[in-house]
Amino acid sequence: MIRKLRRKFILVFMGVASALLAALLIGLYLSNAAHYRQMTVEALGSALMEGRRARGGVPLIVAEDGPGGQVRVLFNQIFFITEEEIAAAVMEVRETGQEMGELPARNLRFLCHRTGPSGIRVAFADIYGEKASLHAQLASSAVIGGVALLGFLLLSVALSRWIVRPVEEAWKKQRQFVADASHELKTPLTVALSNVDMALSIQGSFPDEKNRRRLDIAETALLRMKDLVEKLLTLARGDAEEGEADAASFVPIDLTYLLSCSTASFEPVFFDAGRCLRVEIAPGCQMMGSAGKLLELFGILLDNACKYSAPGSTVTVRLEREGGRICLAVENDGDGIPPEALPRVFERFFRVDPSRGEIAGCGLGLSIAEEIVSRHGGKIWAESAGGHTGFYVRFFK
Ligand code: ADP
Repeated sequence: MIRKLRRKFILVFMGVASALLAALLIGLYLSNAAHYRQMTVEALGSALMEGRRARGGVPLIVAEDGPGGQVRVLFNQIFFITEEEIAAAVMEVRETGQEMGELPARNLRFLCHRTGPSGIRVAFADIYGEKASLHAQLASSAVIGGVALLGFLLLSVALSRWIVRPVEEAWKKQRQFVADASHELKTPLTVALSNVDMALSIQGSFPDEKNRRRLDIAETALLRMKDLVEKLLTLARGDAEEGEADAASFVPIDLTYLLSCSTASFEPVFFDAGRCLRVEIAPGCQMMGSAGKLLELFGILLDNACKYSAPGSTVTVRLEREGGRICLAVENDGDGIPPEALPRVFERFFRVDPSRGEIAGCGLGLSIAEEIVSRHGGKIWAESAGGHTGFYVRFFK
């Protein structure tokens, strides 16, 4: 959670900083381009109208062509452009039909003025220098932008650490509280359960059937509570380990074997519940992981499939390899999960229909399943339509 929060902060900070930086650099570029353009257009205007030559500024050419198509150069400050080239440039200007524009191939900007029914006078300005300056500005902007972004990244990493510290501390305290409380509750619960168990197992200790029934109810409630406490403890431990390198403790796992063991142990549960279990497990599915955690994941998905499937229906478990990935699917038919609840089923304490009190559960199973999958670098999702529900896991080995 804390890592997600920091990542979000860094993303937002970098997004805003990059947008501002880009706006600043692009704004500077555009204003410089407009300034250069303004300068040359003014110089072209005075050269064209008043015959004024540029002094120390943009080199200019003024030429005109008359009725005979003969081009006359009035003056030329761009020494490397020959009269033939000027004549060709004037022809190009004629073809564009514009009063003002650019001839990019010749690095010239022009301003054109009609001198008669077919005659024109054209002033050209050399824009090679302008283009070179703008290119240089682009290059330096890219360097400045890159360095600034790197600086912002370092700053955002440091800031994110500082900003999430109070949240991290509150989160740590809450986690510790949940872990301690669950741990403390485990012993009295175990004691209460074993005493209830013992009382129930002694023959003839309940001549009154009503009292026996009361103790049965107490046992069911205690078992539910034990399950809840254990799940809370698992999640609190998982949160405490957040960010620690799981991979270091992983070992090679034969998923084919592990899932076969898990489904075999669930067969009597399905049989007692009046469901069928169909198992299709591909051979040789291996990955790095924690056997205990993966067994817990299979247990959660199989237990849910049994609990939420229709009586007499068949639950299918499939394990297969797809390229470099291992895919697990657990599918069942029943009431299904409504589309609006589908994105929330992995949230802590979320139950689709809490009023379905007859199905035991506390809404923590899938949160634990998601955590186990994400610690193994995988992805878990649910699909449900027309009463057919599937939980799918993809491990990237
Ligand atoms: P719990 O089963 O303890 O309520 P979970 O986190 O395991 O909690 O599941 C959350 C909810 O998702 C369940 O209450 C149930 O409504 C729904 N759900 C889970 N698995 C299935 C399934 N296989 N088929 C239909 N609904 C399911």
